[in-house]
Amino acid sequence: MVRAIVGANWGDEGKGKITDMLAEESDIIIRFQGGSNAGHTIINNYGKFALHLLPSGVFYGHTTSIIGNGVALNIPYLLEEIKALEEKGVPTPKILVSDRAQILMPYHMLLDACEEARLAGKSFGSTKSGIAPFYSDKYAKIGFQVSELFGCPDALKEKVENVCTLKNVMLTNLYHQPALKPEEIYGMLMEYKEMVAPYVCDVSSYLHQALQEGKNILLEGQLGSLKDPDHGIYPMVTSSSTLAAYGAIGAGIPPYEIKNITTVVKAYSSAVGAGAFVSEIFGGEAQELRDRGGDGGEYGATTGRPRRVGWFDAVASRYGCRVQGATEVALTVLDVLGYLDEIPVCVGYEFDGKIMKDFPVTSMLEYCKPVYKKLPGWKCDIRGIRNYEELPENCKSYIDEIERELGVPVTMVSNGPGRSEIIKRGPLI
Ligand code: GDP
Repeated sequence: MVRAIVGANWGDEGKGKITDMLAEESDIIIRFQGGSNAGHTIINNYGKFALHLLPSGVFYGHTTSIIGNGVALNIPYLLEEIKALEEKGVPTPKILVSDRAQILMPYHMLLDACEEARLAGKSFGSTKSGIAPFYSDKYAKIGFQVSELFGCPDALKEKVENVCTLKNVMLTNLYHQPALKPEEIYGMLMEYKEMVAPYVCDVSSYLHQALQEGKNILLEGQLGSLKDPDHGIYPMVTSSSTLAAYGAIGAGIPPYEIKNITTVVKAYSSAVGAGAFVSEIFGGEAQELRDRGGDGGEYGATTGRPRRVGWFDAVASRYGCRVQGATEVALTVLDVLGYLDEIPVCVGYEFDGKIMKDFPVTSMLEYCKPVYKKLPGWKCDIRGIRNYEELPENCKSYIDEIERELGVPVTMVSNGPGRSEIIKRGPLI
């Protein structure tokens, strides 16, 4: 059985926590897209971790953690992350890296940083992890696949020469940076080869076998629907697909094997980077939600920068669930809202004098104004509750409202950042 855990919003929905929790019953956990540009925060018996590249299932001895072919693989970063786990007493995880994964190169990070600086006030708000230049190169067919490290040295040297010629045009002329030296790049790739060799695997074939043996497999998505390059708020998106469907491609499994799409929805909104955000709030109201949010405030796990925050957006979240193909919803960080007398929920967008219920394309989104419905707050701390029936009535009404708006059963309610802080629930719809 393959289950995908993906985000319906802008990312930071708490997928890491849900993956860590569900990994207990899983055999294999796979990252299938993105790179080290977004972090998953996990709090468990070993402590608090911000994982960027490793799947959030690495904490269990019985699981195999896989970096799929769709990932932007920063090899030194991967090794550092493995080391950091070991230093905190986590048993050495079993890790496999797809031989078809492509390598994120230091010049991808440099180009990312240079371009953000060039764009200045109009930048994308990239984490400068090299993601956009990496995926551009992959599709321009000038990326380096892990398998190439183990292939013909002369062919690799020739490719390095060619790539340096191309990259140096931009680096020296546009960004006024020193030129790349092919022999240095080749030498670095040989170091990467040594580093990654113990983990390299024909992942697609491994998963084919695992599926035949009836293993439980989790696909862990990074970011969320609204950051998808096709279905999100283009161009303020990431550069690889954040959708469950892409899990089949980014891991190398048949699409029909994905039976369950657990879509993580946040009980309020948060976003990083630029782009239209209809239910965004500002000032003191925003600062209070930001400081109370997550497990220590809504500040980026990778960059520490403050996240933009807003009220729950039913229009965006329903769309986010739809494009994921959500079969169930895990509603997270509900505990954070316990301080409010009334909780606004964005139930429509006003555009050109009309109320819209469907999430529009980016060019319209910028002109949409939120239409709010206010629900009564529950004014207490719901952390520690494990039984759905024990939640305050107003809290249950808030969940019911969200479920009706999404049109997808809310089967899990997360009321704290820890692994066991979850309320399982029979769906109402
Ligand atoms: P991911 O990228 O989707 O894995 O999300 P993050 O790791 O950025 O998670 C968002 C933050 O919310 C993290 O700091 C989590 O520890 C925290 N978190 C997750 N679920 C809950 C929850 O139910 N309640 C609270 N208070 N924090 C949560």
